[in-house]
Amino acid sequence: MTFQNTREFAQQLDSQDDLRAYRDQFIFPQHEGKNVIYFTGNSLGLQPKSAAQFVQEVMDDWANLAVEGHFYAEKPWWDYHERFANPLSKIVGALPSEVTVMNTLTVNLHLLMVSFYRPQGKRYKIICEEKAFPSDQYMFQSQVRVHGFDPKDAIVEVKRREGEHNIRHEDIIAKINEVGEELALVLWGGVNYYTGQVFDLKTITEAGHAVGAYVGFDLAHAAGNIQLNLHDWNVDFAAWCSYKYMNSGPGNASGCFVHEKHHHTNLPRFAGWWGHNKERRFKMEPDFDPVQGANGWQVSNLPILSLAPYLASVELFDEVGMERLIAKRNQLTAYLEFVLHDIDQQLDGADFEVITPSNPDERACQLSVYLHGQGRSLFDYLMQNGVITDWREPNVIRLAPAPFYCSYEDMYAFGQILKTGILALQKQ
Ligand SMILES: *Cc1c(COP(=O)(O)O)cnc(C)c1O
Repeated sequence: MTFQNTREFAQQLDSQDDLRAYRDQFIFPQHEGKNVIYFTGNSLGLQPKSAAQFVQEVMDDWANLAVEGHFYAEKPWWDYHERFANPLSKIVGALPSEVTVMNTLTVNLHLLMVSFYRPQGKRYKIICEEKAFPSDQYMFQSQVRVHGFDPKDAIVEVKRREGEHNIRHEDIIAKINEVGEELALVLWGGVNYYTGQVFDLKTITEAGHAVGAYVGFDLAHAAGNIQLNLHDWNVDFAAWCSYKYMNSGPGNASGCFVHEKHHHTNLPRFAGWWGHNKERRFKMEPDFDPVQGANGWQVSNLPILSLAPYLASVELFDEVGMERLIAKRNQLTAYLEFVLHDIDQQLDGADFEVITPSNPDERACQLSVYLHGQGRSLFDYLMQNGVITDWREPNVIRLAPAPFYCSYEDMYAFGQILKTGILALQKQ
């Protein structure tokens, strides 16, 4: 499709958008009486209007039923998390028994590493991406130390080549092969949080398995954003937070995936009563008998008040389906890219550079823009004018137009504010 950087054209795309009604199901912060242009759905998704009602339901059950709510609430609390199995399994391409919700993301990755980072003899190294999300870096360091290794030796980062913004796929595979028999675990991000680069998780999984390592993924920026087929790709384990693209609310619960092939094994794990055989949980027996499935990694009884808005959001995903979201995502991101390039050309000179891969297969709902010119003052200008983006050192703003609630007209309007901002700052 040939795009045009005009309001009429953007409005025409909105009128053809079969997801346009969903914009109205989310609550936008207001700027001068209008919805902000929200580009940070990759950091904290907007609140679905249905979320408050799901929370209120739990508050009412607590008030009216108190402890009886565990079994007699309309959505009983003791197996509330099982309501996620079906919809979540579709979002990440898994069997219902392979997914669960619990804890928060870094905690879950730690718990899964207890099972899947099992150094033995000379096999003790972990491969991860250079500049992984800081929480992941701290996690890797602390995990290898727990096992008595030196992070400098045990953690192998795959680096970007000199002068390049993204990691080359062939370099990941080459590094996996090079570390070979020393490799215990590949733990990689599905989508890089900084550049928005999408990785080929299927091929990475195959390469890791070929040298005898486990392969797991941090899907913080991938869940609810990209097409995942965790089961078919034979991924060992994965975890994701739900407050980014999945709109579940600040700091909310994480989702986990453990492949079916590990359900009937005796993988070591840190156990708790919520992972114990469901039918016998309340018999309070001394010996741990894990549920055969991802639920067997549960530890504590769940924070129902947190799960309630997550469930509201997951139901919206179930209604729409990843396929439609991804179709809109592709066109919306392409339109944003077009608007950025058009403004860049109108202003005659590269004030900014998109560092996210231009290949649509290697990106999803995010364009990271390196501001060579005005930098921080341009970011501030955008924020003051109702464009919510975020700033990452040294000079990058990340723009994530979430397809659930962002419109094409938002992209056009953003371009106009950007242009005015650059011109205003050039005069100063
Ligand atoms: C957002 C994000 C996290 C956050 O972890 P929490 O434990 O939920 O605070 C972790 N890893 C990546 C890659 C992220 O993008």
